[in-house]
Amino acid sequence: MITKYWHVDKDVDDLKSYPQIKEAAALLKNNEVVAFPTETVYGLGANALSEEAAAKIYEAKGRPSDNPLIVHIADQAQLEKLVADIPLQAQKMMQAFWPGPLTIIFQKKDHVLADKVTAGLETVAVRMPNHPLALAVIREAGVPIAAPSANRSGKPSPTAAKHVWQDLEGRIAGVLDGGETGVGVESTVVDCTAEVPVILRPGGITKEDMEAVVGKTVFDPALKNASERPKSPGMKYKHYAPNAPMYLMDGSRQWIQAQIDAARAQGKKVGMLTTTEEAPFYRAEVVIPCGSRKNLASVAHSLYDVLRTFNEADVEVIFSETFPYEGVGVAVMNRLEKAAAHRWRKEEEASP
Ligand code: AMP
Ligand code: MG
Repeated sequence: MITKYWHVDKDVDDLKSYPQIKEAAALLKNNEVVAFPTETVYGLGANALSEEAAAKIYEAKGRPSDNPLIVHIADQAQLEKLVADIPLQAQKMMQAFWPGPLTIIFQKKDHVLADKVTAGLETVAVRMPNHPLALAVIREAGVPIAAPSANRSGKPSPTAAKHVWQDLEGRIAGVLDGGETGVGVESTVVDCTAEVPVILRPGGITKEDMEAVVGKTVFDPALKNASERPKSPGMKYKHYAPNAPMYLMDGSRQWIQAQIDAARAQGKKVGMLTTTEEAPFYRAEVVIPCGSRKNLASVAHSLYDVLRTFNEADVEVIFSETFPYEGVGVAVMNRLEKAAAHRWRKEEEASP
């Protein structure tokens, strides 16, 4: 398949009259898959009402079929057609955070969405993205759009059109390039079907942000305890893995440098994932600052691009700084834990 590539400046007025948007939307209506930017990461969209279209997403990504997709909408009228009811807590969240990086789980209406979109569940995950290109293309297509991240399954999510191209060129109908995404990690997923909302996946909207609006929320226990079965099917899969094994480093700069030196002494090409503050202190083959420790949102923004850069540099092992589990740091650490397959190295354990 020849993959079309359209560039559109996301800041132009009257996007819906752009031929690129019309062409992308026409392909979506025709049950083809098209990638487009959102404010979190690039999404791989398809008509959520069509089994044929949804099947193409799983095939292009190589995604396991028990991992349901998030349905993207452009206005609230679209939501009412998809869900059985809108609980009060969900209404408050929508009012506060939509359009934005928050996905809400609802009870679905029967016989509306393609079964492949919800992977046979009674619930559906819905979000209204805060990105002019995403909203324009969904509106123009006139159907709800199922869209997971536009990467091959298991690879870091794409935060630029070139990442989508690396993974999916030849496998999808087109890519709309609207520049780099903002948040950089996937949306927060919250289940509002229970009385107390349950956070299934941490993301750009933090627990603290939600609690300011709805009162108490809880994390799905599976987020902290790898042996629990997650409520969100996708959370059990290994994700975001760079090619080289990665370790989360909990210790002083001097100790981390000693670990780097030991790996280099074995002839390994070492990558160090660090921050603008710490980068000057490390000596390794590839030292990449991933945002600033003073601004965890900047770490989230750069994370996936940095993981892909380590792949391009062919490093053989990656050591990573770690971050506080606070605010957006929870989402950053969740993604780093997955990228590292939960491998930690701790200074106290290493030196008795
Ligand atoms: P992605 O589309 O790759 O960003 O992943 C979507 C995430 O939302 C995955 O972790 C899915 O398992 C999760 N998800 C989608 N639909 C549901 C649902 N109905 N209930 C729980 N989790 C869901
Ligand atoms: Mg994904």
